[in-house]
Amino acid sequence: MNFELPEEHRMIRKTVRDFCADELEPIAQEIEDEHRFPAEIFDQLADLDVMGVPITDEYGGLGGDTLMYAVVAEELGRVSGSVGLSYVAHTSLASKPLELFGTAEQKERWLRPLAEGEYLGGWALTEPGSGSDASDMNTTAEKDGDEWVIDGTKQFITNASEAGSVLVKAVTDPGAGYDGISTFIVDPEADDGFEVTTVWDKMGLNASPTCELSLDSVRVPENRLLGEEGAGWDQTKKTLDGGRISIAALSTGLAQGAYEHATEYAGQREQFGQPISDFDAIRDKLVDMYRKTERARLLTHKAARRYDEGQPVTKASALAKLDASEAAREVAEQAVQVLGGYGYTTDFAPQRFYRDAKLMEIGEGTSEIQHLVIGRELGL
Ligand SMILES: Cc1cc2nc3c(=O)[nH]c(=O)nc-3n(C[C@H](O)[C@H](O)[C@H](O)COP(=O)(O)OP(=O)(O)OC[C@H]3O[C@@H](n4cnc5c(N)ncnc54)[C@H](O)[C@@H]3O)c2cc1C
Repeated sequence: MNFELPEEHRMIRKTVRDFCADELEPIAQEIEDEHRFPAEIFDQLADLDVMGVPITDEYGGLGGDTLMYAVVAEELGRVSGSVGLSYVAHTSLASKPLELFGTAEQKERWLRPLAEGEYLGGWALTEPGSGSDASDMNTTAEKDGDEWVIDGTKQFITNASEAGSVLVKAVTDPGAGYDGISTFIVDPEADDGFEVTTVWDKMGLNASPTCELSLDSVRVPENRLLGEEGAGWDQTKKTLDGGRISIAALSTGLAQGAYEHATEYAGQREQFGQPISDFDAIRDKLVDMYRKTERARLLTHKAARRYDEGQPVTKASALAKLDASEAAREVAEQAVQVLGGYGYTTDFAPQRFYRDAKLMEIGEGTSEIQHLVIGRELGL
């Protein structure tokens, strides 16, 4: 494997890094404190043409590969977990399935505005009663003439309160198990019966809206069915294969950000007449943080490259997600420790990375579920 990023990827990394330093870093803590979704940041990301990095340029995307997308997700995560989370949910969960499974007409109507960054997208799988066991859902869609009528409740849906479209999973054939689930494109503005009932307060990532949705007899025309009727579960598995690479990339960014804050602080803070970075205990911690971050990045890029080569990616993406999410939490926790009492205050970033990192071990399949997936792939 070539470990160097191609020139194009390094260029986009620099563009996004500079943007983050100028525009995002100054407000990264403030938007968390205020629980404010930073719409202006996403407008600017649209101006930079990065809201559809891995989406074909035929439908308004940048036409980049998954590796390039992972690089962008890492850069956003390095500065703001919230912006990174909303960004990856928009891209890999809400946009990519439209590209993979939509008709030309659906792509023109629903994918283009997402890829061009006109508005954000959401993806609604989880329900109050079904998380890890996601196929055990209660949301239903019944055919009525040439319309589908969707009823149910969805839980923890990223971006839903800000979204111009939400992909909703629903049971269309209750007796058919995995083959009885379908995906529908729902328009939160125009479709009556769609309501965001809760925007959750969370231990972190509070600038990224996490919503409970009510779907009360939401009527959508036939052309809002994504792909074949009954293909919704198969689409979900493929979507999560890509989605886990996103969470791995975002986690790598959180780890990198925490590491950088800790390194900078350790070089400046003096105790016992010397910078604390001169103490073996602190230096070893920083080396450990660097090691974990590098490992997370390597596994993430390996999974992304496999995805781009069209190779099976279930094991590689689950492994990257499992490892990088643990790395993010561990590195962020170590960063808090390196900063001592200041690390425990909200004036310094490590506490924010620590709180944000915890979600990475939960969203898009918990660590326990990643173990199950990897074990199955290994034939264990
Ligand atoms: C901030 C945030 C954003 C999210 N964004 C989205 C989104 O955009 N769209 C969406 O559809 N969902 C989203 N989710 C939902 C997320 O994917 C689920 O929370 C996650 O899959 C876990 O489901 P659960 O919360 O119901 O936990 P549960 O499934 O109830 O799990 C509880 C515990 O039991 C363990 N467990 C469950 N089953 C097993 C098993 N078989 N073996 C071992 N342990 C097991 C779990 O690992 C966990 O530790 C989001 C969640 C959060 C918090």
